[in-house]
Amino acid sequence: MMPPENPPPNDTDDGFPLSSAVLWRAYEQSHEAVLVSDGANRIIAVNEAFTRLTGYSAAEVIGRNPSILASGNAAPEFYNAMWESLSQYDTWEGEIWDRRKDGSIYPKWLCISVVRDDRGLVSNYVANFTDISASKQAADRLAQLAYHDVLTHLPNRLAFESQLAHALRVCEREGRQLALMLIDLDNFKNINDTLGHHTGDELLQQVARRLRESVRASDLVARLGGDEFVVVLPEIEGPQTAARVANKIQVAVAENYWVGEHLLYTTPSIGISLYPGDGSDPGLLLRNADSAMYHAKNAGRNNHQFYASRMNEAAGERLQLENELRHAISTISPENSQFSLHLQPQIDTATERVVGLEALLRWKNPTFGMVSPLRFIPMAEETGLIQPLGDWVIWEACRLTRRLREHGINDVRLAINISAQQLRHENLLLLIQGALACYELNPRDIELEITESTAMQNPEITLSILDQLSAMGIMLAIDDFGTGYSSLAYLKHLPINRLKLDRSFVTDIETDVNDAAICTATIAMGHSLGLELVAEGVETEAQRDFLARLGCDVLQGYLYSKPMPFEDVVVYLKAHPEIIG
Ligand code: C2E
Ligand code: MG
Ligand code: MG
Repeated sequence: MMPPENPPPNDTDDGFPLSSAVLWRAYEQSHEAVLVSDGANRIIAVNEAFTRLTGYSAAEVIGRNPSILASGNAAPEFYNAMWESLSQYDTWEGEIWDRRKDGSIYPKWLCISVVRDDRGLVSNYVANFTDISASKQAADRLAQLAYHDVLTHLPNRLAFESQLAHALRVCEREGRQLALMLIDLDNFKNINDTLGHHTGDELLQQVARRLRESVRASDLVARLGGDEFVVVLPEIEGPQTAARVANKIQVAVAENYWVGEHLLYTTPSIGISLYPGDGSDPGLLLRNADSAMYHAKNAGRNNHQFYASRMNEAAGERLQLENELRHAISTISPENSQFSLHLQPQIDTATERVVGLEALLRWKNPTFGMVSPLRFIPMAEETGLIQPLGDWVIWEACRLTRRLREHGINDVRLAINISAQQLRHENLLLLIQGALACYELNPRDIELEITESTAMQNPEITLSILDQLSAMGIMLAIDDFGTGYSSLAYLKHLPINRLKLDRSFVTDIETDVNDAAICTATIAMGHSLGLELVAEGVETEAQRDFLARLGCDVLQGYLYSKPMPFEDVVVYLKAHPEIIG
């Protein structure tokens, strides 16, 4: 150790309140590294903590310039500022990255003070420093947590907002245009519900990677939450640049995904807003991209839409429709209802007889006219209105079944569509028992249709409810089969009686070999599990013949009849007494 070779004598007569022996010990035992250099900035002394931190022994550095410690990462301006401060104020303090003897670099907190002689000339520099990598790592980790989405490692909403605000300031200053794309995955909920959150999470990670790879490093990709992502292109020539990138994203996201043993498929719906045309603050741009995204969803998914001011009118219309729906449901009465059930025959393939009728809800609103169930049922589900509406459907279906019996039409079963929320509502069993009793019906007179994805949600609860319904003697069908990701192995455990092949497979059964193969396999496997197979959406004789050859048990579709109002069904059935089951 230098200086001195030996600890100085224990003298106290040099004017210092502490002896130099005490100072020496403080210097030597300090946890902070201490380095002393002379007026020419040659190292003359270092303590033990210095050796521990840097890996250099005293002998290796004495006589050399402290710059041997430098990492080489700091710019010359940094050192200029440091020397400036030392010459003006005799002191400097700050964070600096240095290199250890083993080559590793580390951040340290460094304080330097200048010691001057009587004439004011620099006699020494005294530097002390600590390694701050640990606290720096902790700070970095905190920043990472606060600003990054843990699942995908993309920036989160917080980071996105501040980066967008920054990008907009730059755009304003430099007169540039910017595009904001809001991306929502199309059937993600289905995948998450049927295959579980683990699978959903891994899919999101893969989507995040594809998004990141589809754009430039200077573009911002962030996850806002759930299956919602955002991409900001801070430098575009015009809308066509954004459209090109959106197309690229559509192609990348729509490719197949392998997650574990599952082959999955999802597509993006993309809404785009542009700065400055569609807004100049982050909030407005995001709201407008959101409207455009809804538009993309309505336009059939897997596409992108640019914001147009009239989209706000569409959003307003949605709200108005929702209010109308709420009002229509709250004022349902036997005499006056905007709702009705239309019935569509189900035909036994072998005998060509009508064995069932599916009840399909219709809504005729004074302002909006006929509204498709594809539009108002999801709305009722989102708002919880499906509960009272679904209850009404069950009562009405039972009432109509009673009226069929009064017309002498006996062996035709009525199939009722049930939403996920209804299925899990504790009142369902009591409600059905009450409606059946009220209209003096047997459980065998009705059938419940639940979609494949509903059947896959919360398997334990679902199984227990279906068991109770089945024990009552109610027939159960899985609707839209083939659109979810359920396995027949899982369905085997459910007490179901029928599988309804989704219309989308039937449509292209003659032209698409995949659809034909899916139908063939589903019918064969369904039969092996003792299930009856129903095909939806049969429109042509060729489809009917194809399905008949495969042994499909029951057919439903426009080939036989569209869904009809009750009175027409009675006429239809009475006109063909031979076809009643
Ligand atoms: P879903 O249960 O799969 O009903 C079959 C849909 O296919 C019906 O559409 C029906 O009109 C239509 N369809 C039947 N045959 C053909 C055909 O040959 N060609 C074509 N192109 N379409 C055909 P709809 O009535 O518009 O109902 C759509 C969906 O709304 C239903 O699909 C069901 O999921 C839901 N829905 C309808 N009524 C109710 C209800 O009372 N409660 C619940 N929860 N959902 C309902
Ligand atoms: Mg159905
Ligand atoms: Mg269906």
